[in-house]
Amino acid sequence: MSRVFNFSAGPAMLPEAVLQQAQEEMLDWHGAGMSVMEMSHRGKEFMSIAEQAEADLRSLLKVPDNYKVLFLQGGASSQFAMIPMNLASTKRKVDYINTGSWSKKAIAEAKRFADVNIAATTEDSKFTTTPGQSELQLSGDAAYVHYTPNETIQGVEFPYTPETGGVPLIADFSSTILSRPIDVSNYGIIYAGAQKNIGPAGLTLVIIREDLIGQAADDTPVMFQYATHNDNGSMYNTPPTYGWYLAGLVFKWLKDRGGLEAMAELNQRKSAALYSAIDNSDFYANPVTPESRSWMNVPFTLANADLDSKFLEGASAEGLKTLKGHRSVGGMRASIYNAMPEQGVQALIDYMAEFERVNG
Ligand SMILES: *Cc1c(COP(=O)(O)O)cnc(C)c1O
Repeated sequence: MSRVFNFSAGPAMLPEAVLQQAQEEMLDWHGAGMSVMEMSHRGKEFMSIAEQAEADLRSLLKVPDNYKVLFLQGGASSQFAMIPMNLASTKRKVDYINTGSWSKKAIAEAKRFADVNIAATTEDSKFTTTPGQSELQLSGDAAYVHYTPNETIQGVEFPYTPETGGVPLIADFSSTILSRPIDVSNYGIIYAGAQKNIGPAGLTLVIIREDLIGQAADDTPVMFQYATHNDNGSMYNTPPTYGWYLAGLVFKWLKDRGGLEAMAELNQRKSAALYSAIDNSDFYANPVTPESRSWMNVPFTLANADLDSKFLEGASAEGLKTLKGHRSVGGMRASIYNAMPEQGVQALIDYMAEFERVNG
């Protein structure tokens, strides 16, 4: 068996130790005589898995008591609709900050339910930067302000948390959650699809301030109301049990490795090494303004795009996989989430230097 370094943006690499533990527990979880996949979600075994996962997540992110953690399905994309359906159902005004492809999708969906004000957009820069606090034109009376702390496709990350003057701040943390400590109390809702930095696809995490639950209009489908999931401990219907379990193993793994402070140090180091390899070369380029560069998703281009496929073939032969950039941006993209070891980033940097030496 040989494991590659997988730079996919999502579904992405999982920690090898987590996969091994899942393998060991696959046929018989802790003497239950069955796999976690086969358990009743209401049985005491799965309940203990679910509760432990939530407790570990709460301790990692220091989630305050007045926030609920929901383990849902539907992906971050379902949250694009659930947020306005729950918080702005009467066509209320809402503020959105547009910093890239995922912001745009969230905005398009919100327009179906709410009166959307674009508080700032960086589209003119081709989404290569983030707006400063003083550039945000917030309505003041909006139901909420929505932003995307890390744009997975453009590799642009906010270097600060927007101030909203008391208006609930809603954040799509899909590709940067658990990459470093955050202050949850700054947010109304934090949401994330699991398949980037949490676990397998199929699980969606929502951390929501209590007072934002229960505001949906009566005709909102029950599955789309936060209250439904909150009132039932995320078990109104069958939750994504195996994803929940695997996320729990990842939370444990993070705690064992020193928690989010340790991850922040590691992620800062990994991304700084890669950006400096790009910046110190005339052959590779990254268009993002340095203060807004993502720690998680690093897009880069080659001086000669005709060499792209040769670069990718050579990388693949070295066990460096899924480096092709998103079709909307082109070039390459290296996603280096928590589970990407430092050796993986170094192997990529070494390969890039050698490729440049031969082809530059
Ligand atoms: C991947 C991604 C999404 C979409 O997530 P799904 O779970 O596939 O719906 C949304 N927002 C961001 C920032 C992402 O990276």
